Amino acid sequence: MTQEKLNHYEQKLLALQEEILSNIIGETSDEENPFQVDGDLADKAEAFSSVAISEGLSTTQKETLELIRKALQRIKNGNYGKCMACGADIESDRLEAIPYAETCKKHMSEGRFK
Ligand SMILES: [Zn+2]
Repeated sequence: MTQEKLNHYEQKLLALQEEILSNIIGETSDEENPFQVDGDLADKAEAFSSVAISEGLSTTQKETLELIRKALQRIKNGNYGKCMACGADIESDRLEAIPYAETCKKHMSEGRFK
C-alpha cells in the first residue's frame, strides 16, 4: 500500500473516531465532561474507554472505537490493510467502506473480526 493510500485511510479513521467521540461528548454535560483532556483524539479515545462502560454506551460504539484504535496502530506499525486470517491485502473497496476492517471479504464472516 502506498503512503498516499495510508494517509487517506488514516484520515478516514480519524474522522470516524472524531464523529463517534463528538456524539458521545455531545451527550455529556459540561460540568462532568471527562473528555476535557489536552492532546489529540487518541488521548480522548483513551479517556473515553475508561468511562464508556459506566456511561452504558452502545456496544457497537465501543467496539467500533476499539477497532479504529487498532487500525490506527496498524498504520503506525506498517501492517495496515492485511487480512488477519490469510495475510492478503484487504480489498480497497472494503477499506473504503470499513477502514477499520481486519479481514478480507473472504474471511469477513469467519468471526476473526475482533
Ligand atoms: Zn483473508
